[in-house]
Amino acid sequence: MVKIGIPRALLYYTYYPAWKKFFETLGVQVVLSGTTSKTTLDAGIRAAVDETCLPVKVFLGHLIDLKEKGVDYIFCPRVISVEPKRYLCPKFLGLPNMALHLVKGLPPLLDMEVNLHKKADDLPRQLYRLARRFTMNPFKIRKSIAAAWKEEQAYAGRLRQGYTPYDLLENPAAARAQNRNMKIAVLGHTYNINDPFLSMNLFERLRSQGAEVITSEMLTEEEVLQGVSRLEKDIFWTFGKEILGTANYLLEKREVDGVIILVSFGCGPDSLIVDLIERSYKRAGTIPLLKITLDEHTGDAGVLTRLEAFMDLVQWRDVKCR
Ligand code: SF4
Repeated sequence: MVKIGIPRALLYYTYYPAWKKFFETLGVQVVLSGTTSKTTLDAGIRAAVDETCLPVKVFLGHLIDLKEKGVDYIFCPRVISVEPKRYLCPKFLGLPNMALHLVKGLPPLLDMEVNLHKKADDLPRQLYRLARRFTMNPFKIRKSIAAAWKEEQAYAGRLRQGYTPYDLLENPAAARAQNRNMKIAVLGHTYNINDPFLSMNLFERLRSQGAEVITSEMLTEEEVLQGVSRLEKDIFWTFGKEILGTANYLLEKREVDGVIILVSFGCGPDSLIVDLIERSYKRAGTIPLLKITLDEHTGDAGVLTRLEAFMDLVQWRDVKCR
């Protein structure tokens, strides 16, 4: 059976259930790279150019892992836009070229373009073209596309119920925090906050202190849009819209006790978005905000000390306000 490798990085946290369903319904075996570790990161750092942001370095490390696993292909789509009038950052546009240039000896990449800004109904056509590499049976292809779409909807529905991608993809057995009296929002790119290695196991650390974790995926699209509705200019990055929209919505509704934001060092969109968030939280002065910048030198010890101090502050405010 043909083996297709999927890197456990970047858009994996958003689309993996749908991708897996699509390929498996086509009759292809899906092989996932291992969980991120120091080995993955070091391999990615060696392959990358210095200016690359941390999550892309990690992605390169996962490609190397899949190469070593001996897969026949690696799925590496060129994702330009996943909604009208908004884009992903340029790193996603050039991802297949970057992968081939920086990691030598990769198996063939399954590259397809996703550009829903150009044409909203383009995705099924691109998927159809991709599927024809594995079967010429049009019924099987249509069935695979429909199954992937259904899976995508089911996954989004479960996230909306209060699960994180980490809960559903990495740790399905973990009990979700229920009825906790402290809510902490964790904001940032989904591939940073849901990767336990990159986030230094932040979700579990917060839950072990009695906090319920809130992420962007748990908000509806309307709530996120409400969060960016008062900006003078539209945010044309999809991830930026999600992070800023969630931060503003939660600030307005005061539905959380604290917000932690993880920022990728070297990320252009983050530098603008996070600055806007910091300013509005500082101006309002109602919800504590902790910013943690991630790069390959970020050490657990320093972050954990800041996290402890932040949680003390949140708890102290909570007691004081009762
Ligand atoms: S949005 Fe930022 S963190 Fe994400 S890939 Fe682009 S530069 Fe890297």
